[in-house]
Amino acid sequence: EEYLLEVKGLKKYFDVTEGMFKKERQYLRAVDNIDFFVKQGETLGIVGESGCGKSTTGNLVMQLLDKTEGEIIFEGVDLGKLKGEALRKKRAEIQMIFQDPFSSLNPRMRVFDIIAEPLKTHNVAKGKDLENQVYELMDVVGLDRSYARRYPHEFSGGQRQRIGIARAIALKPKLIICDEPVSALDVSIQSQILNLMSKLQKEFQLTYIFIAHGLPAVKHISDRVAVMYLGKIVEITTKEKLFDQPLHPYTEGLLSAVPIPDPTLRDQKDRIIIEGDMPSPANPPSGCRFHTRCPYAQEKCRNVEPNLVEEKPDHFVACHFPLEEGHGVLIEK
Ligand code: SF4
Ligand code: MG
Repeated sequence: EEYLLEVKGLKKYFDVTEGMFKKERQYLRAVDNIDFFVKQGETLGIVGESGCGKSTTGNLVMQLLDKTEGEIIFEGVDLGKLKGEALRKKRAEIQMIFQDPFSSLNPRMRVFDIIAEPLKTHNVAKGKDLENQVYELMDVVGLDRSYARRYPHEFSGGQRQRIGIARAIALKPKLIICDEPVSALDVSIQSQILNLMSKLQKEFQLTYIFIAHGLPAVKHISDRVAVMYLGKIVEITTKEKLFDQPLHPYTEGLLSAVPIPDPTLRDQKDRIIIEGDMPSPANPPSGCRFHTRCPYAQEKCRNVEPNLVEEKPDHFVACHFPLEEGHGVLIEK
């Protein structure tokens, strides 16, 4: 099977050594050897707490950051091996929608120029043709054409995100990385933007990587979901399998944190609570990085790092003692 995007052994370490002359360098292992793929036309959700490496992963794929190690293979080509014009062209096929529609748009540019900029930079259109393309993009994202001469501050968060989306799709990209695109918006506006994104996905055969803090945010839009913890992918599978039968205790914990609207269902599933904060990625725990918070941790977990393996068809998990049927197996300590 040929994937639109394939990420292999990807690492991003930030040097956080204090004092220039220290011999022993200290690294923040923001992304620490992850593998995943994205199929053409699907949405891969990436979920995890702040500092788990999800945004860094998005920024690495987007080429906004240099990787420490690994391969980012887009349409069969390792982006790390491309240079100059070839890289510039490929990069244009990957775009990003940012979390904060307030800071991601240049406040001194009018809406028209914000949307026109990528088209101009990549010499896609000029003059009347450029104008038509910008207006068509405004139509597509539901922005009235009469807004073209206005500035970003004149708009609400939802409308600004529509401007950001128009800009992101201007070059007809294949992949769009959406980094918490609705989390800064009012709840009432969130579903409008998500609906727009789904509509555009069908219309333009877009592939999405959808980054979010929690599982509810990716439930409707994702086909598959990757759960990250301290720079690692701990589980990755289809949305259905992840929500119905999570295999990793951390995923189960994230699901347990989701309020169940019907209180009669409350006791039907074992619910675990993840206590404490995520440890620092500069000094991750030995063995399984989740062992300091995992209710099922055993001796082996403290010493041996679990690899991400295909435990069930199309269901990958990094845990020595994966859960059965979404329920915690109580392990004698
Ligand atoms: Fe918990 Fe051990 Fe699995 Fe890590 S490997 S998630 S500590 S049971
Ligand atoms: Mg982030």
